[in-house]
Amino acid sequence: MLTSQLPSRVEPYKLAARNERLEGHVALDKMARLVEEAGEQTGECYASLEFGIDAQGRREIRGHLSATLSLACRRCLAPMSQDVSSDFLLGMIADEALASELPASHEPVLVEGEQLDLLTVIEDELILSLPQVVYHDEADCLVSSDQLVSRTDGAAEESAPRSNPFAVLSALKGKDSSDGKK
Ligand SMILES: [Zn+2]
Repeated sequence: MLTSQLPSRVEPYKLAARNERLEGHVALDKMARLVEEAGEQTGECYASLEFGIDAQGRREIRGHLSATLSLACRRCLAPMSQDVSSDFLLGMIADEALASELPASHEPVLVEGEQLDLLTVIEDELILSLPQVVYHDEADCLVSSDQLVSRTDGAAEESAPRSNPFAVLSALKGKDSSDGKK
């Protein structure tokens, strides 16, 4: 079961009553909101989810996920590979109004009709774990630090005029036209 696809819909109360653990992969290109946030993705997200009932009778999911995403370098805009992972604790609620009864340690997850859409849960957690900005190491970046210094003078971002992203793009195109799919 290690490399199986995760089911997209589950019955979480039953899984919690049986202390079940689900583990598997979800294709990243199925995650439309992730693609909107982070750009086109290939590959998969690994997730493991332990369903259970705690001492207070709360039905919960202890989850872990990891994925290798392709994110645009903030400096040169070329995609770079970035590992993300997340551990999370979800408390199941049958009604939004019950979210306030959960302790701060639990994120609420709404269970409707005793069903849960696992794909949505994993996509939400993956989006929450996205880094704000990513940069290549200087040696690997298409924009050298020399170019950067000449553009911003090393001044703080607020005081420097924003560089035109299209100027960066056309500089890149001139530099490597074989990579010109975009
Ligand atoms: Zn870069």
